[in-house]
Amino acid sequence: MNLIFLGPPGAGKGTHAVRLSQQLGIPQISTGDMLRSHVREQTDLGIEAKKYMDAGELVPDDVIIGMVKMRLQDADCKNGYIFDGFPRTVAQAEALDAFADIDAVLNLIVSDEVIIDRLSGRRVCPQCNGTFHLRYLENKELCPVCGNKLVQRKDDLPETVLNRLDVYRRQTQPLIAYYDQKGLLRNADGEGSVDDNYNGVLQALDIQ
Ligand code: AMP
Repeated sequence: MNLIFLGPPGAGKGTHAVRLSQQLGIPQISTGDMLRSHVREQTDLGIEAKKYMDAGELVPDDVIIGMVKMRLQDADCKNGYIFDGFPRTVAQAEALDAFADIDAVLNLIVSDEVIIDRLSGRRVCPQCNGTFHLRYLENKELCPVCGNKLVQRKDDLPETVLNRLDVYRRQTQPLIAYYDQKGLLRNADGEGSVDDNYNGVLQALDIQ
């Protein structure tokens, strides 16, 4: 099954994509995680991408498309995959059409208010990639999974969050109509509890 998870930043795409990837035994492909690993390793791509990421802007399409095309050649993608955060522009979606067959696009629906609350309270673990909300952390400093020091992503700072929402509206939201016209779009609620939302995702995708 080749899936795309669509939705604004903070909608829960990563959380549900990781869980579904474990359930189905297919990889979750997060272009954001791939870019952050390039930034950490200070590759040419990472150095180029960092300026866009820190500002909450999108990394240029050709960089992303090349990166994804290469990733799909890995052996673990042969039985399917879940895109998380890709495509993010119509140009990326059109490019993807030329080298992949997508079975369904899951669109998570969340209001701006909820997104702003989630992103401003989000803390991530650079070691295990875990994502947590300050509200639910007993120890606000340390990863409850691996004990590493938690950090706030630079692009989760309040002024950048507003820009990311604006970028989402202008550049990514048109993909909802794009995939609806292809008959691939499935909608799910992203505002309830993680478990309720995940069940909604499974239902929307007809997965038992
Ligand atoms: P994410 O972790 O998906 O929120 O992505 C973090 C940042 O990486 C975004 O704000 C963009 O700067 C960049 N990024 C991730 N995926 C893409 C994409 N498909 N196209 C362009 N930029 C991306």
